[in-house]
Amino acid sequence: MSPIYWYDNQFLPAEAVRVSPQDRGYYFGDGVYEVYRVYGGRLFETGLHYERLARSAAGVKLALPFGEAELEGVLTELVLRNEVREGTVYLQITRGVAPRNHLFPADAQPMAMAYCNEVARPVTTMEAGIKTITLEDTRWLHCDYKTLNLLANVLAKQEAAERGAGDAILRRGDIVTESSASNVMIVKDGRILTHPANNLILHGVTRAVSLRLARAEDIRAEERPFTVDELLAADEAFVTGTTVEVTPIVSVDGRPIGSGEPGPVTRRLQRAFARAIGLES
Ligand code: PLP
Repeated sequence: MSPIYWYDNQFLPAEAVRVSPQDRGYYFGDGVYEVYRVYGGRLFETGLHYERLARSAAGVKLALPFGEAELEGVLTELVLRNEVREGTVYLQITRGVAPRNHLFPADAQPMAMAYCNEVARPVTTMEAGIKTITLEDTRWLHCDYKTLNLLANVLAKQEAAERGAGDAILRRGDIVTESSASNVMIVKDGRILTHPANNLILHGVTRAVSLRLARAEDIRAEERPFTVDELLAADEAFVTGTTVEVTPIVSVDGRPIGSGEPGPVTRRLQRAFARAIGLES
């Protein structure tokens, strides 16, 4: 079956989607996006995603062409039409189609596009953990807006792969911000630490869910900046994200974290997460 896209307010087979070369997303990266999880055929945490999308859009002065309920209806239909049970939905909204000019076009309509794919939970890396490297965070100062401008993230992830690692952990000077495509948490003496949700990181939906689950599990969690040295001296570390869920970090720049194996707090959080998405664990 050909995947069904939602593009310019219509449900279309993938091959019928025609993107204009004058779309501002194409030459300026002028747009915002979201990636949702689908578990058991249902969208996960739609409220948190809409809240973040609305913040990102307001941050870049883009008027969303739909409200929360309308969007949820469209994306739910997209999941059903594609018959996806375990997967992701990608949604992006650009500032629209107009001749190239940095200034906002006077009359362009925002252009929304979404598709839905089967994507399995990354059970192998969630079990074994990933190796990571650290890199300087070269991004702009609004990493809290989920915009299409991901070149710094792309370069970081590519460098990690070329150096045999699963992800790159970004640092501004000594402070760990997040990774190329997920948030980073460490565990020290039973307490979780993660960077505060300010302008330097994406306010991850999985981060918020993980902090909520940690508190429900009576695991202390603190949102404060931590250094690369604190990361290296941590008992455990893990990343959180829509596609990676809670994935242990077993090494950083070739140095083992804790025992070099996924730790007990990480495992507890993974089990709590599995229960939250309706899986026994
Ligand atoms: N940080 C960055 C830079 C990301 O790209 C992502 C996800 O794409 C995240 C964090 C995690 O956010 P979420 O849990 O909402 O997927």
